Amino acid sequence: MTAFDPVAATATYVATMSPAALAKAIAYTHEKEWLLVGNVAVNVVVSFLILKSGILRRIRDRMERTKPRPVSTSLLLPLIFLIFSAALSLPWDIWSGWWVEKSFGMTSQPLLGWFQDHAKGLIIGTVAFTLFLWILYAIMRRAKGAWPLWGGLLVGVFAIVGFVLGPVYIEPMFNKYTPAPNGAVRDTVVAMAKQVGVPSDKIFIYDGSKQSNRYTANVSGLFGTARVAMSDVMFKQNADIAEVKGVVGHEMGHYVRQHGLWGTLIVTILAVIVFWLTAMLFPLFSRLMGGRGVKGIADPAGVPVLMVALGVVQLLATPVTNSLTRFTEHDADNFSITHFYEPDGLSKALIKTADYRAPQPGKLEEIIFYDHPSVSSRVRFAMDWKAKHLALAEKTAADDAAIEAASKAQAPPAPAAPAPAVASTAAPKAK
Ligand SMILES: [Zn+2]
Repeated sequence: MTAFDPVAATATYVATMSPAALAKAIAYTHEKEWLLVGNVAVNVVVSFLILKSGILRRIRDRMERTKPRPVSTSLLLPLIFLIFSAALSLPWDIWSGWWVEKSFGMTSQPLLGWFQDHAKGLIIGTVAFTLFLWILYAIMRRAKGAWPLWGGLLVGVFAIVGFVLGPVYIEPMFNKYTPAPNGAVRDTVVAMAKQVGVPSDKIFIYDGSKQSNRYTANVSGLFGTARVAMSDVMFKQNADIAEVKGVVGHEMGHYVRQHGLWGTLIVTILAVIVFWLTAMLFPLFSRLMGGRGVKGIADPAGVPVLMVALGVVQLLATPVTNSLTRFTEHDADNFSITHFYEPDGLSKALIKTADYRAPQPGKLEEIIFYDHPSVSSRVRFAMDWKAKHLALAEKTAADDAAIEAASKAQAPPAPAAPAPAVASTAAPKAK
């Protein structure tokens, strides 16, 4: 018997992608990297146009003809800016958000459906962001030089509120979340949840195929609202019990190890730094953009300059934020494998995610752009674990294959769509 070779096993997994699929994954990944830069460029152009039009300055001057009205101008001017910005960015958003996805076969959603989701997102985002900027400007007026510190804390508060409300109010506006239907998948997931102390009524399947053909799952929510959700795409792509264990184990890792809470803390600290850099760079950006009549960073008529400065600083911070999320993603992989012993289940699932995350990026590309470690390094990690725990991995794989075979013998069609009856009764209780 030859010894198990993790390097060869990793190569075998990556080689399961056809050369055509691999080429497409690389093209798509590179396209998305350019879009990230393009987003900032569009933000710069749109903000510049709004600033140059002078509309914000004129409204401010009219409102403050008799006396300064910082409370109302800092509410109205950001709102007007965000509305104009959304309108001017729409062609870019359609192209980058829908057309590119469509041309790579990543979405089957018609343009109208995409637009409805986009409009909902814009309305929620505009309301939340206007409120955020309104409070931020109040902080700038009161705290003066210390505003980046309090502004960072404000980001933390908004992040927590957003996380808590997300699964309850926001996500159901875009997708339908239903408990996993009765059967082998549900039994497996419930047993896993019991094993690691996750409430087992918080595992959902959602109609992710509505928007995207990505094989994916996620964990969202915070405190009592946290839950794990698998996209129905997983089952359309024939996820078996081993894969479900690998993937759900990963998401449970995020849940059990409180990555949402850690993430919020890190985002808060990073926001302080980003705001501090923005405060320093604001005068430079204001000069470069020709911000005539902008009276400084606390002047809401200068909101286009503020957005450009923030956007550029945030783009430059991408390698830092991505490196931090790569770390938690690795931790979740580790949790999955060391609790559920399915290195092959996880690897099979990871290769399916390589359709939208090319599996073998260059080191620098991975550091700058990848918010998850590359698929090849994640599979390699799983295979290294398998090499050290070969008997355990093989026994688990055999057990899971037996469950899979038994469930197929019982109910021929895979659990593609949960029964609607279950959804209407159980979903509100769990959320
Ligand atoms: Zn993850």
